[in-house]
Amino acid sequence: MVTSPDTLAHGPGNAGVPAVSAPQIEEALTANRFSLAFQPIVTTSQDALVGCEVLLRWEDPDLGAIPPHAVIPVAERTGLIFELGDWVLGQACDQLRSWKGQAEWDHVTLWVNISALQLADVGFPGRVATILREAGVDGTGLCLEVTESTLVDVRSQTSLAVMAELRAMGIRIVLDDFGTGYSSLSYLRHLPIDGLKLDRSFTAEITTDGSIRPIVRAVTDMAHALGVSLVAEGVETDAQLAAVADCGTDVAQGYLFARPMPAHELARWRAGWLRRPERSAVPADDATPQLNIGRLPDAPAPELARLLETESEALFAEAARRIYTSSIPERFATPDFERARERWVRALLRDSRSGDYDATARVTDTLFRQASAAGATPLEQHLFVTSLRLVVTRALRRGTDTRREVMAAWNLFTALEHRLLSSLRSTDRWIPGDLRREEDAA
Ligand code: C2E
Ligand code: CA
Ligand code: CA
Repeated sequence: MVTSPDTLAHGPGNAGVPAVSAPQIEEALTANRFSLAFQPIVTTSQDALVGCEVLLRWEDPDLGAIPPHAVIPVAERTGLIFELGDWVLGQACDQLRSWKGQAEWDHVTLWVNISALQLADVGFPGRVATILREAGVDGTGLCLEVTESTLVDVRSQTSLAVMAELRAMGIRIVLDDFGTGYSSLSYLRHLPIDGLKLDRSFTAEITTDGSIRPIVRAVTDMAHALGVSLVAEGVETDAQLAAVADCGTDVAQGYLFARPMPAHELARWRAGWLRRPERSAVPADDATPQLNIGRLPDAPAPELARLLETESEALFAEAARRIYTSSIPERFATPDFERARERWVRALLRDSRSGDYDATARVTDTLFRQASAAGATPLEQHLFVTSLRLVVTRALRRGTDTRREVMAAWNLFTALEHRLLSSLRSTDRWIPGDLRREEDAA
């Protein structure tokens, strides 16, 4: 086995990883042997493409295919990570530019992996700004994935300042491989991030190990309470997708949807994915699909109507029990709130029979207003909608042949949640007291 300071040895767990040296990486960069693969990230309701993760590929004429985990540690140890990282970002930004003005691709973000070392480099934001400018794109198309590292503390003053600068450019930041590192709650609260990517080991065991599901549910709720999104990685089966969706996870990635592919294959993948027979939310010939999170369903849901007719009280109570210690707090027992709630159930019942949910959406706005008037914080309202969505879809799942309705109800509550979030975006009472992130307080 080749070993030198510049060479990745076959460490434990690295069996079969080819050893590469720093000069080989430099040569591959010069000879343009690196390329990028793109792996779609989609909503768990499978009706929108959210973005694509960018993954490094190296096909060498002599060495064969070199996986990223054989390259990145060597590049990190030898300082080549900065050059390699800039190259990846440059290529990703070129891809973003080529999508500009194409309605189907314009909003698709690229999720680029960066090393914690890059985040600890004060020169990084300046270089990113140059890369963006040269490509002619802005930062909003980029999301950077960073993994907690034993080498660098991403909470160091430098890294925090770098993150703040990047976010000021519109770039989002997510913490990758979440659940495998050492993040504590207090640590997360102080990190200026936009999302968490749950490590794929959780997804891998979610259908076989009974202890995983409550953990994923708790992590999802925690992410939402922190005001950040959660992505489930490594989704390979329908059962895993159903399980992570049931936990409230909105976004997922994995072989079930697509393997990483070259950019030129994405359009064909997407056309096939949109035409899958089991999806119905967006018509196959829709040339300009929009993000679907805010879209109301457009078909009657007789099972949902039946459920509301017979069980709406019980469903409300169950949803409340998920977020409060016992039942709905006394302070909401105002006549105005009660009336708004009754109107809401009536509208939802009527709309689930007719298939047009516009009235429900409008009455929902009133309900939220009355809830605020009765003293509910935005966080409570958000948690309540999420909780109601879980309770309702779970109740629907008990019926037979209700898959379409489960999805419709899921989309409906997600749309209502989205409406709530848009109306709350400007309020500063979003996360109360000590849970509020420091930057928000600043
Ligand atoms: P990661 O960030 O956790 O990336 C996801 C890895 O999981 C990718 O492996 C992807 O191909 C694989 N994957 C995706 N879906 C599934 C699935 O459903 N099942 C299974 N079993 N695997 C799935 P890949 O491409 O080998 O990348 C490995 C790691 O290398 C990445 O892990 C990331 O940490 C690192 N990496 C890749 N590209 C870059 C880069 O440009 N810069 C840096 N710093 N790191 C990179
Ligand atoms: Ca990643
Ligand atoms: Ca990951």
